[in-house]
Amino acid sequence: MRDVHRVSHPLVQHKLTLMRRKHTSVGQFRQLLEEISMLLAYEVTRDFPLSMEAIETPVAPMMAPMIEGKKLVVVSILRAGDGILQGFLKVVPSARVGHIGLYRDPRTLQAVEYYYKVPPELADRDVIVVDPMLATGNSAVRAVERLKGAQPKSLKFVCLLAAPEGIAVLHAAHPDVPVWCAAVDERLNDHGYIVPGLGDAGDRLFGTK
Ligand code: URA
Repeated sequence: MRDVHRVSHPLVQHKLTLMRRKHTSVGQFRQLLEEISMLLAYEVTRDFPLSMEAIETPVAPMMAPMIEGKKLVVVSILRAGDGILQGFLKVVPSARVGHIGLYRDPRTLQAVEYYYKVPPELADRDVIVVDPMLATGNSAVRAVERLKGAQPKSLKFVCLLAAPEGIAVLHAAHPDVPVWCAAVDERLNDHGYIVPGLGDAGDRLFGTK
């Protein structure tokens, strides 16, 4: 699949299996999502350029590597995106944060924006959009479309699980946006859930069902 990066690390795959289990508690689910997100953050930032900076250790001066450029921006698609955001912030605590709220119009089934707040100067920043489930792809397409308006330096999409349908929709609309995930599942069912998936990520994360 074009520009889909599946993070196959055993820790990620093991934790994902624990999250999929229907008897996993809300607390465990939340903890696991944070842990996996830290590992996904590690992988998705692997290509960030470094530049050398003069520092002094207690023993001697040296040139040491630092990540170049302005701070990373992580944009969470509400509300389940916040579960991934927490893990990213553990690994990149200085990252700037944006939020996009979208709901599905019951008539058109299209994603409609109800909230948008992102940091300034996106043109100088790498932006990573996060949402645990890339299902129909409609929210992802809408969020990326909106962010592209601010012409960020780069855009990547990170999810936990992706459906082939969602990847196809996102890549048809935005072929330049790479996807990072822990797994690509079989398909979507008639209700728009990923199969076998893990159920409703927001409900499982916040205990709302
Ligand atoms: N959103 C979810 O939370 N779960 C799915 O399976 C699909 C979309």
